This record gives sequence, structure tokens and C-alpha cells, in this order.
Amino acid sequence: MTELPDIDFENSFAAQMEGFFVPWEGAKAPKPEVLRLNHELADELGLDPELLKGEGGARLLTGAAAPDSAVPLAMVYAGHQFGGFSPQLGDGRALLLGELVGPDKERRDLHLKGSGRTPFSRGGDGKAVLGPVLREYLMGEAMHALGIPTTRALAAATTGEKVLRDTGPEEGAVLARVAASHLRVGTFQFFAARGETAKVRQLADYAITRHYPELAQSEMPYLDLFRRVSKRQADLVAKWMNVGFVHGVMNTDNTTISGETIDYGPCAFIDSYSPKAVFSSIDAHGRYAYANQPAIMQWNLSRFAETLVDLVNPDDSDDAIAKLTEVLNQFPALYEEAWLDGMRGKLGLFEPQAEDIDLTTGLLTSAEGQNVDFTGLFRALAQMVRGDESPARALFDDPAAFDIWAELYKKRLAAEPVAAQERAEAMERVNPIYIPRNHLVEDALDAARQGDMGPFDRLLGVLSAPFSEQPGAEAFAAPAPESFGRYTTYCGT
Ligand code: AMP
Ligand code: MG
Repeated sequence: MTELPDIDFENSFAAQMEGFFVPWEGAKAPKPEVLRLNHELADELGLDPELLKGEGGARLLTGAAAPDSAVPLAMVYAGHQFGGFSPQLGDGRALLLGELVGPDKERRDLHLKGSGRTPFSRGGDGKAVLGPVLREYLMGEAMHALGIPTTRALAAATTGEKVLRDTGPEEGAVLARVAASHLRVGTFQFFAARGETAKVRQLADYAITRHYPELAQSEMPYLDLFRRVSKRQADLVAKWMNVGFVHGVMNTDNTTISGETIDYGPCAFIDSYSPKAVFSSIDAHGRYAYANQPAIMQWNLSRFAETLVDLVNPDDSDDAIAKLTEVLNQFPALYEEAWLDGMRGKLGLFEPQAEDIDLTTGLLTSAEGQNVDFTGLFRALAQMVRGDESPARALFDDPAAFDIWAELYKKRLAAEPVAAQERAEAMERVNPIYIPRNHLVEDALDAARQGDMGPFDRLLGVLSAPFSEQPGAEAFAAPAPESFGRYTTYCGT
């Protein structure tokens, strides 16, 4: 058997956080093979892509074997799922192999999803299958290229075994995922729900050291931790909203302390603008609909705040609650500021004006119910800035809805002495041409299931440069044909 890649894992979580995980090993995949490797990310991590792609790399990346430096473990966490509390979730089909500190000195987790059963599997088989693994790979890379904080795929590997799903047997696969960490709101909730305050404090201290080291000297480190996480999550959700991303399963166990997007299950990008857009088959009541995301994030942050009460003031919970609530109440303003900032960029507005909020919501309101492609609209507005209004008008079922707004926009633009060309180029730097269009994602995954990785590679390639026009890629910028119909996503297990 070939050697495993000689990777020097660091294990700060394993070493410092006993009681927060169980040491565990991956299932021995019968025939592990690396299907796709993220060379750019491997380089960033200081890993040799050629070694990772080989037989030893495949064993490592499926969890079948781990080098001596690794302490593979399954993390424990809880979480509110669709509003209901599950006191024990945990890595039921995942393993943290350890941490990697690359040439950039950043510490990142290398984590495997689909590596077999663990003590937290409950009824599940601990496995993942090819389609959802490639979906997470694609979505994470698309988000990264869009400049949105996210976990990323290092590799997708197949295990050589069939895994049974509702639709029949599927090809088993493992996603090797890189994240700033896997600390979640749900990790705090697990210990808080059991009244284990010392453990919550230990976790908060670890999170501060790892993600917010500047707080080590703070007089109110735990309140400030909450403040920082709230700010990062406000910025994150604002970025989602700016590109039309619907996460789809914003449970508290899928809300990170680092502020990265995690867990690409039933997520999707909106095509026609609609605040109520929901794609997930299990989100029957639209809890995680597009426009609900900011409010849901604040709800998730309240659950986080609850876990910190005893830390913020061990002697006076009323005082702690008042302090945490004050920070929590700032979330809507933080979010709106970040969102509006993003929207100003999308609209090519350089000097903030009080009226911008009305101008922005005015555009969205006029687009509602008009079958307007959200992504296409902002690229068309750049053309309007250059002098051609017709592409933007043509996006509306009833262009009259657009015309009223367009007058206000033109007035607003005229008030700012910016050259049209400069403005349009600035808009094109922040408004993507290419997003993971639902029909293209499905086509790529269908082909991959049939053994043809061509469409996946092509789509991944286009999505890695979403802001620059790529010759021959016109079809990747277009909305789904009507025949594609209503899009439904399924939680990939
Ligand atoms: P997710 O929906 O991926 O965020 O997972 C929610 C919880 O269900 C986590 O505790 C997972 O580890 C667990 N889980 C999801 N799929 C499986 C599976 N196939 N086998 C075991 N546990 C799973
Ligand atoms: Mg999850």
C-alpha cells in the first residue's frame, strides 16, 4: 500500500477540548479514489496536490486511514432545527482530521463529510453520496469566488461502494472540507443546555483564541465575542442577500462562530426576484425563505446569546441579559448597513445618501412579481449607466414598473459626478455574470452521476471567475428555460 501523504496536522481542538468530542476513525472505504481535487486550495494549505491525488491521498481524504499526526474525532453539538431544539446532534457522518496551518499562517480545519458512522449517527448510515458531495463542492467554490466567507472543498472522493438512498443505490462519496473551524452556535448550545457553564466558558475562550484573538485583553470578552459574531453574521447574511443566495437550512448547528457559510444542503440562488423564494423540500412553511434570512440569523444569535448569560455576568443574570440584548438589538441596523453598502455597490452609488434605502427597496419592489432575473438585472443596470436602458427594461414583464424607478435612479446618478464608464465598471466588479444556476447545477450533477464530469468541470471553471465575461459562456449567464419549472432541493444525506 502506498504511503499516506506526510501531512503535519495540528490538533489544538483535540488537545485542549476533551469532552467536546469522541476520538473516532473513518470507515474503511473499499476502493477510495480522489475524483476532484482543489489544487488552488491545496497550494494555499501548503499541501502537495499530486500526493493527495494518489492512492494514499484517497485513503486519507475518505477517512480510511490517517497519518500519525492526526487525531480524527467526531465533534458533539446540539442545535435548533426549524425552530425545535435537538439536544444532541454532533458529527453523525463526519470527522475532524485535524488542523492545518498553511504558509499564510491561518489555522484551518480539515474535515471529512461522509466518512462513516460515529457515536452521533443515530439512525443514519454515516455516509454521503456523490451528488450532494459535488453540490457542496460547487456551491462552496462559487461562494468563495463571489467573495463570500465560506467553507471550501479540498476534494471529492468516491469510496467504491454503493449507498442506499430513497431513490435507489448511489455512489458513495466523501467531501474533504476546509473551514476556519467547525465551532457552531449549536456547539455552545450543547453544553449550555446541560448547565455545563465551565465547558461553555472553555469553548468561548477557545473560540476567542482561534477567531477573535484581539479580545483576549477585553474587559468583557464574552460580550465582545457575541458582538463580533453578530457583526460577522450580519455581514455574511448581507452578502447572501446581495447575490440572491438562499441557504435553506439555517439551523443553529449550521451557524458558525467564525462567520463562514457552512453546509450546502438544500441551498440555491434565486433566479426571478422573490422575497418568498424557498427551494428546500422540507421547508414547508418558508421559515428559511430568502427574505427571512436576516431575521432568522438574529433568532439564531439570540440562541447563542442565551448560552453566554452565565459567562457575561455570573452573579447577575438580569444584567447579563440586558447587556446581551442590547447587542442583539443592534443586529438589524448592522445588517441593514452591510446590506445597503452592498446594494450601493451593485447600483454604482459612490456617495451614501439617506434616500438610498428607498431607491434600493423601490427597485426590488418594482421587480417583484415581474419575473425579473435578479442577477441579470444588475448587469443590465450597468448597461443602463452606459446609456442603454433597453436590456434592463426588457427584463420586466411590464416595463412600466421599471420606468418609474428608472427616472429616480437617473436623477440619483446625475447628482454624483462620476464618469459613466467608471461607474459601470465598478458595478461590473461586484455584480456577477455567473452564479450557480439551478438548472446548470442539476445538469452537472446528473452527468456526474452518469460518470461524465465534463459539465461539472466546465461549470466549476466558469463559476471560479464570476465577474468576468467569458467567451462562449453565454449559456451560463442565462436563467433557466421555462421548461425547467419550479425548483426543489433536497437535504443531501
Ligand atoms: P445536516 O443536515 O448535514 O446539517 O446534519 C444534521 C445532523 O444529522 C448532524 O448531526 C449530522 O451529522 C446528521 N446526519 C445527517 N446525515 C446523516 C447520515 N447519513 N448519517 C448519520 N448522520 C447524519
Ligand atoms: Mg449541518
